[in-house]
Amino acid sequence: MPGKKPIPFPSPLTEIFWKGTREGKLLLPKCNQCGKVHWYPRYICPHCHSMDLTWIEGSGEGTIHTFAVQHRAFGGWAEDAPFVTAFIDLKEGDRMVTVLRGVDPLKPEEIKIGSKVRVEFEEMEGMFVPFWRLEAAA
Ligand SMILES: [Zn+2]
Repeated sequence: MPGKKPIPFPSPLTEIFWKGTREGKLLLPKCNQCGKVHWYPRYICPHCHSMDLTWIEGSGEGTIHTFAVQHRAFGGWAEDAPFVTAFIDLKEGDRMVTVLRGVDPLKPEEIKIGSKVRVEFEEMEGMFVPFWRLEAAA
């Protein structure tokens, strides 16, 4: 019997992020002291340890830092295998992990490091979860 995919559960720290995804916005934590964006959300800036943080609306643009084809997976993701996971370099800084959309896991040679991707939000049991999709070649 296939399991269910894990669904994110908002915490006091991430509540605003999930409110943003519901509105189609990728909100990112930014430090008011050093000016750097970080991912994932924290109470303390991982760059300078300041607690003076704010949220900014990200561009939703990024590039592929690296990727891997997953041939086996657990639970609700098992039936999606093979699929491609990737680290995305966010335009604003830092990286986000994703299941990459718009690529063929059986043709990894066609996936290029540095390719442009854009965020999109998929509804999963009432939550709007960010995934990144390869942009069509210009
Ligand atoms: Zn900082």
